[in-house]
Amino acid sequence: MKIHKLAVDKKSGAVVSIQEVPNGLSCHCICPDCKKTFVAVQGQKNDWHFRHYEETNCKGGQETALHQLAKEIILTNSRLDIPTYGTIIYESPHAEMPFQKIIPDVTAKIIDENLFFEIHVTHAVDERKKKFYTDGEHKSIEIDLRNYAFTTKENLAFHVLSNIGNKHIIFWKKKVVATAGPDYSWILWIAIVIFTYFGMKGLFKRTSAFSYQRT
Ligand SMILES: [Zn+2]
Repeated sequence: MKIHKLAVDKKSGAVVSIQEVPNGLSCHCICPDCKKTFVAVQGQKNDWHFRHYEETNCKGGQETALHQLAKEIILTNSRLDIPTYGTIIYESPHAEMPFQKIIPDVTAKIIDENLFFEIHVTHAVDERKKKFYTDGEHKSIEIDLRNYAFTTKENLAFHVLSNIGNKHIIFWKKKVVATAGPDYSWILWIAIVIFTYFGMKGLFKRTSAFSYQRT
């Protein structure tokens, strides 16, 4: 990401895009990385972007901001499309909540199970985390944004929620739940008894009719 399209709002700490702030210093933005003042440059010649107010070597922390924004999109939604299983509905999403020995990017619930999201902007999910998810049989999804160039928040939301081409299932298996529901086998037994009874009765009738005819 060469040009900076994302900044942090000084007051709220939220990630903002260049489209949603006033021009110049009135954007009240800071750099997501060095936290120094950002200026919004909304000219006609170049693509709208942010730049540091004072010259610096800072790279602008765009990956950090994109990662943050992607997390926020998951946190403020409840349905997402994944490969193989289609649309999933999750609830109670939390960011960076420690779980056993790891810190997933986002933790949510899907029915009574945990569901973990890992968002990759700079590098892929580390092997230790992957092993943790697969060994523990934890439902987990990787969202790959490494080649994603930010344009608008709406476009990012599409790539986080609806695009399945950038999603990879780390682990997913339907839990085999032991049948704890009501036991209806008695109905079957009653049916067998009834069928047997009438079956025998019918047979008996035919036999008697036959015997009668013979005499
Ligand atoms: Zn900076």
